[in-house]
Amino acid sequence: MKPSLRRARSSLSVALSFCLGHVAQVSEPLAYPALHASHAGIWISTVDGVVRPVGRGEAIGRAAETPMILLNAPLIGERLGYPEISGLDLLELFAFIHPARFMVPTPKGLATALELEPPGDDQGAAQMLHRAASELLSHLERPDWFEREGAWASAASLSRLRWPWGPVLETRIAKPAQAERWLFSKLPEWQETSARPAPHPIILNTGDVVARLDSLTGHGAEERPGQRDYALAAIDAFSPRQRKDAPNVVLAEAGTGIGKTLGYLSPASVWAEQAGGAVWISTFTKALQRQLDAESMRLYPDPAQRRTKVVVRKGRENYLCLLNLEDALQGGFAGRAAILAQLVARWAAYTRDGDMVGGDLPGWLPTLFRRNGATALTDRRGECVYAGCPHYRKCFIERASRASAQADLVIANHALVMVNAARGREAGNAPTRIVFDEGHHIAEAADSMFAAALTGQEAIELRRWIIGPEGRSRGRRRGLAARLADVSSYDEEGGNAISAAAHAATALPADGWLQRIAEGAPFGPIEAMLAAVRGQVYARADAEDAGYGLETESAGLDGPTIAAVEPALVALDALLRPLVILGRRLEAVLDDAPDWLDGQARARIEGAIASLGWRRDALSAWLSMLSRLGGPADPDFVDWLAVDRIEGREVDIGLHRHWLDPTRPFAQAVLKPAHGTLITSATLRSGEEWAAAEARTGTRHLDVPVHHFASASPFDYAEQSAVLIVTDIKRGDIPQLAGAYARLIAAAGGGTLGLFTAIRRLRAVHARIADRLARDGLPLYAQHVDPIDTGTLVDIFRDDPRASLLGTDALRDGVDVPGDSLRQVIMEGVPWPKPTVLHAARKAANGGSADDDRIIRARLAQAFGRLIRRADDHGVFVLLSAAMPSRLLTAFPPGTPIKRVTLDEAALHVKELTSPRPRLSSDAQMGHHTIP
Ligand code: SF4
Repeated sequence: MKPSLRRARSSLSVALSFCLGHVAQVSEPLAYPALHASHAGIWISTVDGVVRPVGRGEAIGRAAETPMILLNAPLIGERLGYPEISGLDLLELFAFIHPARFMVPTPKGLATALELEPPGDDQGAAQMLHRAASELLSHLERPDWFEREGAWASAASLSRLRWPWGPVLETRIAKPAQAERWLFSKLPEWQETSARPAPHPIILNTGDVVARLDSLTGHGAEERPGQRDYALAAIDAFSPRQRKDAPNVVLAEAGTGIGKTLGYLSPASVWAEQAGGAVWISTFTKALQRQLDAESMRLYPDPAQRRTKVVVRKGRENYLCLLNLEDALQGGFAGRAAILAQLVARWAAYTRDGDMVGGDLPGWLPTLFRRNGATALTDRRGECVYAGCPHYRKCFIERASRASAQADLVIANHALVMVNAARGREAGNAPTRIVFDEGHHIAEAADSMFAAALTGQEAIELRRWIIGPEGRSRGRRRGLAARLADVSSYDEEGGNAISAAAHAATALPADGWLQRIAEGAPFGPIEAMLAAVRGQVYARADAEDAGYGLETESAGLDGPTIAAVEPALVALDALLRPLVILGRRLEAVLDDAPDWLDGQARARIEGAIASLGWRRDALSAWLSMLSRLGGPADPDFVDWLAVDRIEGREVDIGLHRHWLDPTRPFAQAVLKPAHGTLITSATLRSGEEWAAAEARTGTRHLDVPVHHFASASPFDYAEQSAVLIVTDIKRGDIPQLAGAYARLIAAAGGGTLGLFTAIRRLRAVHARIADRLARDGLPLYAQHVDPIDTGTLVDIFRDDPRASLLGTDALRDGVDVPGDSLRQVIMEGVPWPKPTVLHAARKAANGGSADDDRIIRARLAQAFGRLIRRADDHGVFVLLSAAMPSRLLTAFPPGTPIKRVTLDEAALHVKELTSPRPRLSSDAQMGHHTIP
């Protein structure tokens, strides 16, 4: 036995003795097996490497009596049907030893990360767990262990929390000669910098842009026709604007493969350098944000320079809040959540930017703890105390905000760009040049951003923000009175307004509101109104649709509902008034600048004014929504009542208001104030005229000429792809649907992305086919089934060409998997829009069924777009639909062969088309959209 392995076993024994409550001692390593489970079976490996398959009952029994080494306990628990399973999870160990390092959380991924031979099968995976544990533990003793600082103290804390790995680590990590700095003193402080001057009005030189593009693409890069034209067309968006409220707007549709990212990064980076301004690049998906961040390495290969030139920005709820973390470490969290807090603290010392969602915190880490505690570590509820926070000068959110003010490129997302514009955040730093990539999602992002919802959950959040914690709530949350104590003692009117707001907020729903409403005993005017709303929804909604959200239009409400609205209006108005006064008083305090108003207090009051502002806006929107109930409808808005349910359980009740055309407020708040905007996507028009793209992006609401550019994809779709429409699967027949998925996945040898429009069907199909595919060596993963976050599922899928992934909407265009791992996309049927109140109103306003067609074509185009990402990709798109209307086939790129076939024929074609050198068989060779 290798010495390192022997040492690991001894340490494991110590750990296990500890977690079983025994005196720590070295015991026989054989007592601690490794457990591996997949859909194909369950295996236990002894320390001596003897692997045997076991039944579910035996595995559960062994796991209950003896902790085992395993990889991803929640996933193993799901495979075993025993969610309570725990043990020595190698993922937790990895997160401790190498925080902020990427790893695909599978046996193969772990082996790769540790430079071990990846296992060839499930048996090998069980054996490999021992090797991986040994290898990981050996890192603790290496002098070059990069993440050593802070580990000793952290291991001691984790041992006290009875983390199974804790004692193993304590015996192996050398105690540092000198006391190490604690995380909060170690993190660097951000520096205040002077305001950036307005960018110079320059006109980009085409030669500079082409030279930049050439240097980015590099010699020997894949020749991408159209990319140069694209980069030149984008220049218009960076020219000086000629008059106020008249931005330069370019709509650019670039077929997949044009290389639009480098196409716009070229003019954007040249402009940023020469004009001295920042270009904001906004995406819809986190996947593209990550990809852009990676692409920026070509612009700035030196990491130090890149850190100042390129900043990734997200909503504040994505970042770790150091004050919440400190609270959690000092007793605010208990049990497993406290262990997670320690592992997050390890990560916080090594993270690049503190982004907990899609940044360098492994996406799988919070799910190991069943998300218990992870969200409480971010600033989700807007309770930040800004300069009143002891960690303000080290805060990740504040750092990102300041860094973006000085950066050349700010990689953000549509929601953040819209929120900043609509709420006047970053006032002095508002972006003048914005590139909206994934521009076909602008309407969707605007729809969420510019909507209003008066629901129980929203109202209770407002109550907590004003009053602070009530009852037995823990944590550091404080109410308005505590946060602004200095203002209220200094300014009487302000103090009175705070008291009045706290009093008025008691009319808002409190803990237990859902239960009280369900029992017919609402408390206070808002709960009473929500109870009436619930009654209306149940009276009118389709009772057949058991288990899922219910809704009804706000028109023609009954007497009791209308009667319940008046007291709610009075209560909300009584709350709005003191908040308006308080806002005014805070402004006045800033203007008068009393002695005690140092820089920190000023920043804190400015923060309070900002958060007060958007709560006032929300209250005003609620009042306007309520005051229209029972009256004539506003033609610009769609109003409805809803009861949100998850699998039959009610989670929220309320009133909703959306813009009929959400691109109108978007154009007003975001596009108009900008100087130049490039809106781009591979599917901006989705086969329609430019007018459709202008409607989709809100540019038709601007009084300016819009520049258009389009370049078709350079890919040879006739050669590289095919669309098969399978006509003999009966709609709604789950056994047939599952059988079709299994046949097609087997035919392709995995490498399949399966898309569903309903979670229920996704789960049913997965349950029927996962085991049998796994027995053939074809792992099947699924959103909403596997306890793994979506980003990690995509990483796993990308990493294993034999794996397949089932998912819903988020995967339709958030997946970028070039190469062999994605060879087939299967859609369970024509993706009809859900018939909601909102959809019905928009359909009526936008041309009836033509609007549905537009939506379906866009969805098909996005899903098809996952397939061919590179010139050497090949793949097949399968649609299971007996009645796919021919008029929708223009969704696919011109030249793509399309064929209606039976499932038997489809399986044969898929096998041929996804083989290593795929070629269409002669009978499948067809011209442009030929349908037999
Ligand atoms: S400044 Fe706000 S977000 Fe940042 S650490 Fe402090 S409380 Fe958290």
